[in-house]
Amino acid sequence: LFASECKFFLGIQDLKQLGEGQLPEIAFSGRSNVGKSSLLNALAGQNFLARTSSRPGRTQQLNFFSLANRLVLVDMPGYGYAEASKKVKESWQNTMFTFLRARPVLKRVLLLLDARIEVKQNDLQMIDLLNRAAVSFQVILTKCDSLSQPALVAKTGEVNKIVAKQPAAYPHIMLTSSKSGQGIDELRAQLAQLAIP
Ligand code: GDP
Repeated sequence: LFASECKFFLGIQDLKQLGEGQLPEIAFSGRSNVGKSSLLNALAGQNFLARTSSRPGRTQQLNFFSLANRLVLVDMPGYGYAEASKKVKESWQNTMFTFLRARPVLKRVLLLLDARIEVKQNDLQMIDLLNRAAVSFQVILTKCDSLSQPALVAKTGEVNKIVAKQPAAYPHIMLTSSKSGQGIDELRAQLAQLAIP
């Protein structure tokens, strides 16, 4: 699946621009700078994401990529930059909630958390949104290369405590690093199971 080209086919700012999905979708969400672009690049190959504009300061949008017409990866806007006004943040939260709640083809959200940073208030808000929208989500720890093994074990335990309380969460936390390649094959294999044959 990941050997094939990952094609950008849609970027939207308004859900009115979004049609009904035909293929299963997996969405990637996380704080700005969590390593989302790097993870998507690691998963899908170098040229991936050349077309996105999910850099801080630029217009926020939902970007859709097709993998071999069998699976769609949805790049959700990174949340949590301080510069965004309260009004903009609220408006995006509403848009995200509407998207998450009314998307039957959305199979799972991968919620990225930076292994080096504590879980922040806006991560908890995102988790709350996912629970309320009743969308299954799975926590992915990013940048695991930057922690020692004992620190990583401690971190996983800490995040596990949070995850265990969430009705919509998958219990299995995945440890990844775009830099070392840790967890990338495992994540690919999981995503391939959600693709149409
Ligand atoms: P995004 O804003 O979530 O798309 O984050 P980026 O993918 O642009 O990465 C943000 C920063 O984290 C960049 O400086 C990356 O070099 C760094 N980064 C991303 N992935 C990793 C990783 O696996 N390990 C380490 N050590 N740094 C990473």
